[in-house]
Amino acid sequence: MRKTLLTVLMAAVLLALPAMGAATISIINNDGAGVGLNDPTVVPQVGTNPHTTLGAQRLYALQHAVGVWAAKLDSSVTIVVRASFEPLTCTATAAVLGSAGAIEVFRDFSGASFAGTWYPGALADKLFGSSISPGSDDIRARFNRDLGGANCLPGSPFYLGTDNSIPSGQVDFVAVALHELAHGLGFQTFTNGSTGALFAGFPAVWDHFLFGTSTGLTWSNMTDTQRAASAISLSQLVWNGTSVNSVAGQVLNAGPNFKLTLPASIASNNVDLGIAQFGAPLNTTGVLGEIMPVAAQPASIGNACEPLNATNVLAVNGKIALIDRGGCTFLIKVKNAQNAGAIGVVIANNAAGLLNMTGVDATVTIPSVMISQAAGNALKTALLGRSRTRSGVFARLLLDSTTPAGTDNFGRVKMYAPTTFASGSSVSHFDTTAFPNLLMEPAINVGLTQVVDLPNDLTFRLLKDIGW
Ligand SMILES: [Zn+2]
Repeated sequence: MRKTLLTVLMAAVLLALPAMGAATISIINNDGAGVGLNDPTVVPQVGTNPHTTLGAQRLYALQHAVGVWAAKLDSSVTIVVRASFEPLTCTATAAVLGSAGAIEVFRDFSGASFAGTWYPGALADKLFGSSISPGSDDIRARFNRDLGGANCLPGSPFYLGTDNSIPSGQVDFVAVALHELAHGLGFQTFTNGSTGALFAGFPAVWDHFLFGTSTGLTWSNMTDTQRAASAISLSQLVWNGTSVNSVAGQVLNAGPNFKLTLPASIASNNVDLGIAQFGAPLNTTGVLGEIMPVAAQPASIGNACEPLNATNVLAVNGKIALIDRGGCTFLIKVKNAQNAGAIGVVIANNAAGLLNMTGVDATVTIPSVMISQAAGNALKTALLGRSRTRSGVFARLLLDSTTPAGTDNFGRVKMYAPTTFASGSSVSHFDTTAFPNLLMEPAINVGLTQVVDLPNDLTFRLLKDIGW
């Protein structure tokens, strides 16, 4: 069974550029004469790219990216990429750098690991062992022809060198191509993330690994309504594949953790945090202390919006103060707690979601984090009825290697699910909290390495999860 995702009507010249590796990937140049990959404009030689026309430089850099993937992948079937440079959405301040995806999807073929499930053409061919649809291309890739020109991120063109020495302000084309090719290889869902509707009634192989932590279901087992809600669930959408999650800590740095350590009955990791722009940055040792709520009498003191009264000073001195959000700035709250002798602050949100706490005040020196409203309520319940001077509830604020940046409480890598659905970005990328930055975040960040696997990146590991 096959379905065509994209219709490609343009005539094209076959330009086979097999890259030697574990798989062969051919590029079909889909540009017309004189434009895009055929642009004859003479340009200075750049980086390790030997060519001196714009079109030839573009093609060489694309071939370089194709070579990286060809060396990693394992398939006996040639992967065919139809590529072009075209006008894509852009303004003076933002631009779509490229877009790519599978041209055809297949299900219920011999070798498929899940029944009733769509696979991208290149992966389906690999699993089937030969081309299911001979003569068809696998991946359609488009790149922004106008980048760097007027009204298209002016001054920020593609860097077409292949040496990963990107001048400040330019955009590494090799990284963009690696990213887009990954989408075409299967780093995408075919399900409509906005409505939750499956493509032609069946889930994508992607959906068997996309997991909603609030429902405990993979996308393949959700209703349309559940999927649409999951797509905008912020930190509650994760990847549930062992190839990625088992090595996330080898790629991602220690991440922030508000770790409840005592009593054992409530010991837990809380990695869904808002981070403060001010105060001491978290480190791997962290701050260990007893959690003590600032009492709400009167409310302005419960919010720590005024200097703490004697009772609260006695409570939080030498402890980690728990304070509700609201009533004044985060800086005022943390400063008041610090003045009362607190060694750290946990702000409990008073609304859904989380945010990073902004503000500048060099006199604030203690660390602080924000926890969700739900986590705050749970903590308050645990503190109910305890002494106002010794709660017996201990926590550590730290950067924790057991909770890498961009993973959830269970070490699962988070997927991008902002509260407003972003077509083309949501659900089919890693979350932006991952650090160091990953190739498959929704934006191409500075500092990427052209490496798609350990020790720098998780993209190839994810493709392994879906069957590569
Ligand atoms: Zn992308």
